[in-house]
Amino acid sequence: MASSAYTGPVFDMAFAQFQDVANHLEIPEDLRLRLFMPKRALIVSCPIHMDDGSTAVFQGYRVQHHLTLGPTKGGTRFAPSVDVGEVAALAIWMSWKCALAGLPYGGAKGGVAVDPNSLSLRELEGLSRRYMQEMIPFVGPQTDVMAPDMGTNEQVMAWFMDTYSMYQGKTVNEIVTGKPVDTGGTVGRREATGRGVAHLAARAMEEIGLKPTGATAIIQGFGNVGAVTAHALAERGVKIVGVSDHTAAYYDPRGLDIVALENHVRAHRVLRGFSSEAAIAPEDLLIQPCDILVPAAMERVIDTHNVEKLRCRIIAEGANGPTTPAADAVLEKRRDEIFVVPDILCNAGGVIVSYFEWVQDMQHYFWTEAEVMDRLYTALDRSWTAVRARATKDGISNRKAALAIGVQTVRRAKEVRGLFP
Ligand code: NAD
Repeated sequence: MASSAYTGPVFDMAFAQFQDVANHLEIPEDLRLRLFMPKRALIVSCPIHMDDGSTAVFQGYRVQHHLTLGPTKGGTRFAPSVDVGEVAALAIWMSWKCALAGLPYGGAKGGVAVDPNSLSLRELEGLSRRYMQEMIPFVGPQTDVMAPDMGTNEQVMAWFMDTYSMYQGKTVNEIVTGKPVDTGGTVGRREATGRGVAHLAARAMEEIGLKPTGATAIIQGFGNVGAVTAHALAERGVKIVGVSDHTAAYYDPRGLDIVALENHVRAHRVLRGFSSEAAIAPEDLLIQPCDILVPAAMERVIDTHNVEKLRCRIIAEGANGPTTPAADAVLEKRRDEIFVVPDILCNAGGVIVSYFEWVQDMQHYFWTEAEVMDRLYTALDRSWTAVRARATKDGISNRKAALAIGVQTVRRAKEVRGLFP
């Protein structure tokens, strides 16, 4: 690729994946960058007052990948690792994910390079509001709709929505999704990603003939996605034998008490201090024996160092981009041993219910939880069937099949619209 503002290992990974799929689809070279390169990006400095009276400046980003199918859609990440290359890769993956799910969106992503745990609540509110204020010329309910991601939550979305609305002089619920239900959020959004991961893990179990009762799972990351997935798998009879967050990792083949873990996190914000008996080195967690492995934290955690050592039967990718392309090549060879439910299929529950929230906000007509969940599982099952059929027909991995459907959908839309001017 010619030199670009977007750099870094996560962006390179998104490009390598795209090239692999473009080769499979025989997409002509001159069409590839049109499909792959983000449409536009905004980089902002967010100065805020700190509690000690000083001023701190945080760098913020928003990348919109393509606007061919409608507004862009994507989360906002608050994490120290955030840079424009990472945000761009996440925006690109959102495009393929939305297209696979049949949603009328392009992908976007935003973020601020900050450790949210280092801020007081007041500082976090200041940063959230200033970031949203800087984004006003760039986003809009018909242009780019935000949502939560790592390090942000319903409260941050409420501040985003309030800040945007104050500038418009009216309440604009539909500018963000993942809001609290009291302020135009939808029931089921908070749980949507994790419940979707558990639903598709169950489909994978069916496929390989594994019964949920007595099956075991390890979950990396115990935030929104990880904790809800753990809960939803446990409800299906799966024994959770391992969990971790950025402060601690625990493994116990007899099973961990999910409700006790949730209570601990509610009281202490982190897993650290839960148990000394079950503590394990975080780098060893993913390679412990289990039936279902759920990476639900960050990118590039399954790589060439651990992929040969994985002892699971299913990988259900809750996180975005948890598997590097080099590790993927090994998983292709281990396809008979390990069944992969790839990220853009597995964690799509979040954006699907975000879409439902946006639709409900614009209509001012809200659905019941049963309606939301029923429509969510119907949408996920439709994508699952399409991915499995494509993987079988083309003799390719589930990941390549999912990406192929997503990329092809965007390509068709671009071709039929033509190239302006
Ligand atoms: P979150 O901030 O609620 O939770 C993140 C969790 O990961 C926390 O428990 C944190 O401690 C843990 N973590 C961070 N670094 C870690 C490390 N090095 N080792 C182990 N654990 C670590 O974030 P989330 O919303 O649950 O997002 C998690 C992943 O899921 C991200 O990749 C995100 O992009 C993806 N995702 C989220 C949604 C959503 O709806 N929230 C939707 C689709 C995909």
